[in-house]
Amino acid sequence: MSDKDPCDRCEELMQDFLDRTLTDLEWKEAEVHLTGCEYCARRYRFEETLRRYVKLSSVERMPPSLMAKLEELRGRDATAY
Ligand SMILES: [Zn+2]
Repeated sequence: MSDKDPCDRCEELMQDFLDRTLTDLEWKEAEVHLTGCEYCARRYRFEETLRRYVKLSSVERMPPSLMAKLEELRGRDATAY
């Protein structure tokens, strides 16, 4: 926890966090970070919403145009705060 940005670490854990496949220790680590870091909490909500959307629309592979749009939104979202 010294040489590494905790937000990078959190990003590493994010997908598994959403998949609920983390170990208890990793889960706790991500949860603590998300509770204290507004940036990652927002990113988590974004990823969660994205997953729900993908699931709802039953789209396995998003069209590149939509993907680009979402990336754009995410970028704006991340820099807005
Ligand atoms: Zn963070």
